[in-house]
Amino acid sequence: MTENDLSNSSAGDCRIKVFNPATLKLVGEVRCTHIDNLADIVASAREAQREWYALTSGERRKVLLRTQANVLHSKEELIKVIMAETGKPRIEAIGNDIMAGLSVGDYCIDVIESNFQERKVDYGRLGTAFKFLGRRSFISPRPLGVIGIISPWNYPFGIPYSQTIMALAAGNAVVLKPSSYTPMTASLMKELFDGSGVPEGLVNVVYGSGGTVGKALISSGVDRIIFTGSGETGRQVMSMAAQTLTPVTLELGGKDPMIVLPDADIERAVKAAVWGSFVNAGQTCACVKRIYVHEKVIEGFARNMVNRTSTLKIGDGSSDPTVSVGPLISEEAVAEMERTVAMAVGQGGKVLIGGSRVKRLNGHFFEPTIIGDVTQDMEVCQNETFGPIVALLPFKTEEEAIHFAWDNPHALTASVWTDDLRKGNEIARRLPGGTVMINNCLYTYGLGATPWGGSKGSGFGRTHGELGFMELVDSQHIHVDDGRYPRDLWWSPYDKEALDGVEQMMDGLFKGRPSEPALKLVGLRKLMRRRD
Ligand code: NDP
Repeated sequence: MTENDLSNSSAGDCRIKVFNPATLKLVGEVRCTHIDNLADIVASAREAQREWYALTSGERRKVLLRTQANVLHSKEELIKVIMAETGKPRIEAIGNDIMAGLSVGDYCIDVIESNFQERKVDYGRLGTAFKFLGRRSFISPRPLGVIGIISPWNYPFGIPYSQTIMALAAGNAVVLKPSSYTPMTASLMKELFDGSGVPEGLVNVVYGSGGTVGKALISSGVDRIIFTGSGETGRQVMSMAAQTLTPVTLELGGKDPMIVLPDADIERAVKAAVWGSFVNAGQTCACVKRIYVHEKVIEGFARNMVNRTSTLKIGDGSSDPTVSVGPLISEEAVAEMERTVAMAVGQGGKVLIGGSRVKRLNGHFFEPTIIGDVTQDMEVCQNETFGPIVALLPFKTEEEAIHFAWDNPHALTASVWTDDLRKGNEIARRLPGGTVMINNCLYTYGLGATPWGGSKGSGFGRTHGELGFMELVDSQHIHVDDGRYPRDLWWSPYDKEALDGVEQMMDGLFKGRPSEPALKLVGLRKLMRRRD
C-alpha cells in the first residue's frame, strides 16, 4: 500500500510512502525524481556509458564480479528490504529474488568476452563467388547506449537486478524506474552497483509514478525500454515508445497452463502445482494458473492438491520460516481476488479450497484458492489473475489439452507432466509460450543462461541468455571489399556491356546447382577487370 498519488512530481515535492503489505506498517519514504531532471540523467548516463565501454571486457568483468560479491555481502540488508516492501517470506526473497539475480549475473560475467566476439558471416552457396570478388562480412555487436528499465514490484530485486547487470555486461548504462511499491529495494541495488566501482552515473534509479516518471523515461531518448508489468501498461508503453521509435522489450502477464497426463507422477505434479500456483502469493507472471488434468486422474489430483494446499501457512514470513504464503501487494489486489472468485462462482465454478480474504491477519492476505468445475470460456480461465487463484479443468485427449493451452490471450510459459519423456518432448514443442517445461514449472526465470519472454498477450522480446544479450546490442554488419576490381558491374554510368554482365551474373549465381556459380563467374571476373 503506497500513497500512490505521485502525479505532482513536476512540483518536486512528491514522496513515495512505502508500507509493508504483511503488517501495514510504514517502511520508509523516497523522494520522487523531478521529471525535468530526466534529460540530464540520461545525458550523464550516456557519458558514463562511454567510459564503461572504453574499459576492456576483462575490466568490466571484474567490476561486475565485485557487484555480485556486494550482493552476497549485503544479503541480510537486501532480504530485509525485499521482505519489508513486499511482505514475502524470507525463503522467497532469497530463492526467487536474490538467487535469480545472482544467477543471471553469473551468466553475464561468464560470457562477457565471448558475446562481444565478432562473427564472420557464412554466405552459403554464394561463398565462392564472394571469395572471387574479394569480399567478406562480419557481425560486430556494440552496446545500444542507455537502457531504460521499468519494473514491477513482485520481484523487486530479481527482475531489475538481472536486467541491469545484463545491460551493463552488454556495455550499456541504465536508467531504472522501479515500481512505486518497491523503490527502496531499487535504491539499495543501485548502492551495490555503485559500490563495485562502476563509473558514476552508469546505474541510475528514478522514482515516481508510472504515469509521470515512467512516461517521461520512455520519451527521454533512451535507446531501448525493457518494460516488465501488466499488459494494459505494456500497450501504453509501446504506443508512447512508437512516438520516438524507441525499441521495446515487453515482459507482460501470463496465464500459464500445466498439462498433467494420466501417466504422470501425480504426487510430484501436485506438489509442483501447489508451489507453482501459490508461490509469491500467486503474484508471478509465470505462476501456474490453469491446471489441465486428464479426466482419468483429475479426481485424485484435486483431492490431493486441496489437502496439500490446506497445509500452507499464511502470514508474515519475515521471521517465521514455516510461512508459505505471504500477502498480496495491496488492498485493491485483495478486492480483485474477491471479485474474481465471485465471478468464477457466478459462472458455474466451485471453490474447492480458499476463496476469501484472511480476516484474522492485519495485512493484505488472501487464501490460496483452487476453483473446480471451470470451463474454458470462464473469466477465471482466460484473464490473468495476479494472486493465489488457480483453475482446475479436465481434458479427454492430448489434442484437446493442447488446444486448451492455446485458447488464451497469453503465452509466457507452459508445462507438461508425464513419465514418457518422448511424448513430453513432442507435446512441449506444440504448446504456447516462450518457455515450455517438461515435469517442472515456473522456476527457469532463475536460469541466467536460458531466454525469458513470451508471445501474444505476454509481450515480445527476450531477457536473459544469448537472446537477451542480442536485444541489448546493435549488431552491426561490417562489409569488407578488398578493392581488387576497378568498379562493380552495377555502378553507373550503365551500358549494354554492364547490363549483359549483370544478367550473366544473375544466372551464374542463382541458376543451376550450388557448385556451378564459381565456374560461371570466371567470365565475369574478366569482364569486371576490363571495365574502368
Ligand atoms: P504495472 O503495469 O502496473 O506496473 C509496472 C511498472 O510500470 C511500474 O513501475 C509502474 O509504475 C510502471 N507504469 C505504470 N504506468 C505506466 C505508464 N503509463 N508508463 C510507464 N510506466 C508505467 O504492473 P505491476 O507492477 O502491477 O506488475 C504486475 C504485472 O507484471 C503482472 O501483469 C505480471 O504478470 C507482470 N509481470 C511480468 C513478468 C514477465 O517477466 N513477463 C514478470 C513480473 C511481472 P508505478 O508502480 O509507479 O505505477
